[in-house]
Amino acid sequence: MKNITKSAAVAAAVIFAGAASANAAYPERQITVVVPFAAGGPTDIVARISGEHLARTLGQPVIVENVAGAGGTTGITRASQARPDGYTIMMGHMGTHGAAPALYPNMKYDPTKDFTPIGLVAGTPILVVVKKAFPAKDLKEFVAYVKANGMKINEAHAGVGSVSYTTCTLLHSLIGTKTARVTYRGTAPALNDLVGGQVDYGCDQIVNLVSQVKAGNIRALGSATAERSPALPEVPTTKEAGLPDFQVSAWNALFGPKGLPKDVTDKLVGALDKALDDEGTRKRLLELGSVIPDKKGRSPAALQALVESEVKRWGPVLKAALAADKK
Ligand code: ASP
Repeated sequence: MKNITKSAAVAAAVIFAGAASANAAYPERQITVVVPFAAGGPTDIVARISGEHLARTLGQPVIVENVAGAGGTTGITRASQARPDGYTIMMGHMGTHGAAPALYPNMKYDPTKDFTPIGLVAGTPILVVVKKAFPAKDLKEFVAYVKANGMKINEAHAGVGSVSYTTCTLLHSLIGTKTARVTYRGTAPALNDLVGGQVDYGCDQIVNLVSQVKAGNIRALGSATAERSPALPEVPTTKEAGLPDFQVSAWNALFGPKGLPKDVTDKLVGALDKALDDEGTRKRLLELGSVIPDKKGRSPAALQALVESEVKRWGPVLKAALAADKK
């Protein structure tokens, strides 16, 4: 009996040592970050900027794979089912890991249970943007114009459950009217059409918008934040612009599939921390209007708490907004 116990213990120790040394070498090859939207949009940009620094720290290439569809839930579903070895991780956001459960009753993942949180990468204020030739010159005129024209105008969004869809749904419920809605595979192609004037307006993460607003190719009527963004100081807050109840903010965060080994997670968490402390990386993110989380805010525990509170928050808000929309 004693011997059996002893040999079992030795076997366990050997297995454990094997697993530990396998992970100690992590990463031994390239890491893929699944971005659940089209290339060139905010989620993609945040993934590429942070990924560049992660690669330097981890000593392996970090490549982005865009798997778009269903408001980001297609890519996140796929990444959540990847082997939890740290070679496939994903860039989620307030939509995929907050709002989506309220909109997809048969969703294949639970944002609160099926992931290993790595860290919050960027807070991203939401702006209401219109095409250059849109008749309203400010947010007040925009509200009046939307009320008067309803389904004659088009809003561009990145699919049911995306940040753009969710935040514009909230906007519509506050204004008390709806418009036509056009779906894209991310807000990069949505922005192209806004610049081209094929669609009229949208609600999007600031990271996508700064350069086009600065170039005068689109106009930002309001930032749904308490303070103006230092990246676009000329854009008024929604409070200043007459729609104070439209207060909403989005974020992007890194997750692994559920069950990432602790030492792998620790390496990724440490590398993200380093990236967000790096001056060059910070500069690029800040120029695009992102809000970089402090040490505590970027921790896996803080991210898990954020996801749980977002899922709770968006459920009733979206159900009420959509019920009003159907009337
Ligand atoms: N900002 C987009 C959204 O509305 C997604 C993206 O293209 O990053 O969710």
